[in-house]
Amino acid sequence: MPNPLPELDLLTRDDLMKLVSRVRVRLRKSLSQHFVVDPAVIRDMVNNVPVGSQVLEVGTGIGTLTYYLARVASRVVSIEVDGRLLRYAENLLRGVGNVSLVSGDALRMPWPKVDFVVSNVPFSITSPLIMRIIREGVPGALLTIQREVANRIMSRPGDEDYGRLSVVVQCVYNITRINDYAPDAFYPSPEVYSSLVKLTRTSPCIDDLQMLELTTNVLFRHRNRKLRWVLSKYLGSEAIRRVGDCGVNMETRIRDLSINEIVRIAKSLMEFRDELDRLVH
Ligand code: SAH
Repeated sequence: MPNPLPELDLLTRDDLMKLVSRVRVRLRKSLSQHFVVDPAVIRDMVNNVPVGSQVLEVGTGIGTLTYYLARVASRVVSIEVDGRLLRYAENLLRGVGNVSLVSGDALRMPWPKVDFVVSNVPFSITSPLIMRIIREGVPGALLTIQREVANRIMSRPGDEDYGRLSVVVQCVYNITRINDYAPDAFYPSPEVYSSLVKLTRTSPCIDDLQMLELTTNVLFRHRNRKLRWVLSKYLGSEAIRRVGDCGVNMETRIRDLSINEIVRIAKSLMEFRDELDRLVH
């Protein structure tokens, strides 16, 4: 079969719809199977991948994004959990030399060392995937995620949706929003708008990321409470003394704590690591 996909600047929604309409498997909602049909999404993603980079793609689907990524990347490893779809991707990518398709769950299998993680993220795994990207220390990521989650990871202290994910992601990455897409950019369409965000690694706000995770996990259980109240509930007076010594105002509400303040709190709670760990796990 001749290759059905044109050059990226000539790619149309029809081309993409045609490929999707050939899929003869019943799609699984639980795996967030929404295929890209708006060429703008592919262009925005491909244009933001530095030429020659090593890319890990999560969720191959039928391989359309993979196909164009392979044009700019030096190598693409693409992981797909649904073996039924991989057959379509193999077909589309036949003859494309720098792509390896891998069958499996991207959250469970080891990752190759890459420069960029690129994904039209299956919504069902957005948070764990972002956490894995952080823990793996990936230099950059381009992710299409629910707009609401994009807002959350970009939000600032005091914002309504400021939370654990905002703190941990912003500690390690600079985040820029590249574009927003209506639900019909994907087929079948999800119920929500999506945003493409680019994460670029920066010097982390703290070396001990695990300590930051444990601290934010416990603090943000009560985002509207004051710091003193939360520390007293979970850790007691010694912890209040320690945190007080690092100069953070005990009367601040959790939702208003800056990342810098949370880092100081995490550092002053080092001795409570085991206790925090027990609370979280
Ligand atoms: N990249 C394709 C597909 C997006 S849909 C496109 O843009 O058209 C998301 C894909 O991720 C689906 O094919 C789904 O089967 C796959 N997926 C879902 N959970 C996954 C996981 N844990 N690991 C790998 N792939 C997963």
